[in-house]
Amino acid sequence: MSNTDFVLAIEDLTVSFDGFKAVDGLNLYVDKNELRVVIGPNGAGKTTVLDMICGKTKATSGSIKFKGMELTKMAEHQIVRAGVGRKFQTPSIYENLSVFENLEISFPRGRTVFGALMFKRTADVDQRIHEVADMIYLSDLLDKEAGLLSHGQKQWLEIGMLLIQDPELLMLDEPVAGMSVREREQTADLLNRICQDRSVIVIEHDMEFVKRIAHKVTVLHQGKILSQGTMEQVQSDERVIEVYLGH
Ligand code: ADP
Repeated sequence: MSNTDFVLAIEDLTVSFDGFKAVDGLNLYVDKNELRVVIGPNGAGKTTVLDMICGKTKATSGSIKFKGMELTKMAEHQIVRAGVGRKFQTPSIYENLSVFENLEISFPRGRTVFGALMFKRTADVDQRIHEVADMIYLSDLLDKEAGLLSHGQKQWLEIGMLLIQDPELLMLDEPVAGMSVREREQTADLLNRICQDRSVIVIEHDMEFVKRIAHKVTVLHQGKILSQGTMEQVQSDERVIEVYLGH
């Protein structure tokens, strides 16, 4: 497989903050329909990598190619338009609006102010909102004020708001933090369904959850890849055990 066949191809990516390399010569390749989990101790550089993919943090050097497009040269809003969605740990939903309105407001409205003004709710928009609401377990709660949802439901709503934009790469930062056991199971099922149509990168600390969802796991340590492979492979890797257990 050549590097251009990957949805995401990161090569020799480095970012320095006052001389400190938070990400140091990283190479990372993500396939179409792959669900990649990035793990690693605090400070390993996980968040910084996602920040660089979505354009929030600019790389010091290296390349991030998404479907052949060089993301390091693009602004955040251009990266979103190119098809990269990012969910942060704290949901950014509109608490005073209904579930339906939150999904509707997230619908892509064209690239111009004119496009946004001309936006009309069509049958297609309605159908897509219902499809997404069904996917995120909220189809019976479309009229409910988002602020009244449970913590887990709010997380799903934000995932739904990203799905409405139909990203080809979805990145999630600790999606099950604070969720109940049942909500974690539902989130695992949701992520498995999401990656049937797109690629997903998840940062996660909950190893039981990682086991359930990961196609491949990348272990970051001090800005570099310490180990990579299936969950079984990285779990039995001496270097990973050493870093996690501190021997
Ligand atoms: P992780 O998500 O794996 O816990 P981070 O990516 O948040 O790690 O951070 C990696 C390292 O980079 C940490 O040492 C952190 O303090 C440092 N870092 C991240 N962002 C900045 C920044 N904007 N300025 C200075 N240092 C930063």
